[in-house]
Amino acid sequence: MRLIDAHVHLSEQEYEGHIDELIEDAKNAGVVALVTNATNLKTCQNDIALAEKYPNIVYPALGIHPWNVNTIGENEVQETIDFILAHKDSVKAIGEIGLDNKYETIWDKQTDVFDKMLHLAEQLDLPVIIHSRGTTDKIVDMLPSYRVKKVLLHWFSYPLTALVKAIDNGYYITEGPPVTYSAGIREVVDKAPITNIMTETDGPVIYYKKPYNGQLTKPSYIRNVVEAIAELKKMQVEEAADQIAKNFEDFFGIKLPK
Ligand SMILES: [Zn+2]
Repeated sequence: MRLIDAHVHLSEQEYEGHIDELIEDAKNAGVVALVTNATNLKTCQNDIALAEKYPNIVYPALGIHPWNVNTIGENEVQETIDFILAHKDSVKAIGEIGLDNKYETIWDKQTDVFDKMLHLAEQLDLPVIIHSRGTTDKIVDMLPSYRVKKVLLHWFSYPLTALVKAIDNGYYITEGPPVTYSAGIREVVDKAPITNIMTETDGPVIYYKKPYNGQLTKPSYIRNVVEAIAELKKMQVEEAADQIAKNFEDFFGIKLPK
């Protein structure tokens, strides 16, 4: 079975010193690809280094997370853009980028950085991986004004009206461990076609519910996630995993091992 973690943050502090064992554990669970999402310049640099160290399994998505726009240095947006341009042949997507309505005090900065990241994706013809807490409607409405062809709305949770629009536009969503216990996420998975769904852990985000129990999140959790999706879609686990792997290949333009 070929499993994929399309959204994880391997360069976050919580994973420092654990990468070897995480990747070994992921491989043992059948995970064949991890997309490590950067959140600022430092994690962009580290994600590129990880992709070089673990070829054909770790792939970098580079960008600036909306939570970081207030703490980054004065020139960091431009420095990050320059870094991404200099590594354009290795980068597989622009992410994690987006808007978060919990941080309204930095709304102007968020929209400015998001706009720059979307223009960078246009320029490099790369897919985008989007964080849209409380802003999914707004983002789904604004994206058609950019020439970004491939869009992934990570951890899609609500509203279902935006899900319908997103699917109509050919966007993808990722879902992770909450699909095993959250009624809202299960409803999203039920409504979205399997051809638009990919899997994620968003690690090191921690899940406190069973069976995760607050442990350090590992990409090997993807197996549980796929089992839950398969059950909701009334598919064999193998069949769901295959379709999700195919979605991954189509979205990122990465050929997975057979
Ligand atoms: Zn994330």
